[in-house]
Amino acid sequence: MSADEQSMRRVTAIRNGTVIDHIPGGLVLQALQIFNIDGRQSNPISLVMNVPSRKLGTKDILKIEDRELTQDELDRLALIAPMASVSIIRNYSVAEKLTIQLSDEMINVAHCVYSNCISNSVREPLPHRLKVLSTKPLILQCHYCGRNQNLERLIGNLL
Ligand SMILES: [Zn+2]
Repeated sequence: MSADEQSMRRVTAIRNGTVIDHIPGGLVLQALQIFNIDGRQSNPISLVMNVPSRKLGTKDILKIEDRELTQDELDRLALIAPMASVSIIRNYSVAEKLTIQLSDEMINVAHCVYSNCISNSVREPLPHRLKVLSTKPLILQCHYCGRNQNLERLIGNLL
């Protein structure tokens, strides 16, 4: 049994929903925030933190029952886990495998970390646009003020 299989068995299989694997260790709580999961939903959520991983050192796994994430929702995960692999589960088997796709721009995912940026002015309702300058490592730049974004602060600014 491979290390990956072992770690997948740490959490019981789900019947329907989404399994996100290869989230860098310790970041699963931010992943919950990215998907707006705050405990008020009624569907079961399982999370596993700090499992040994060959690729990442340690990784987290998130299982969301009875919810299939869309590609748009998934792409937001690029902020913290660009290497994540995602399986959509139907009737206990993998129905679809999805990967995160980063386009040239992230639109309305998070707002610029600079409070004096025009995109943060309530009088100027503009779409929030962050240019993807590089994917490895991820470098994002505000379309409006041209400043590079601090990713940790940006996670606090998710829309
Ligand atoms: Zn800006």
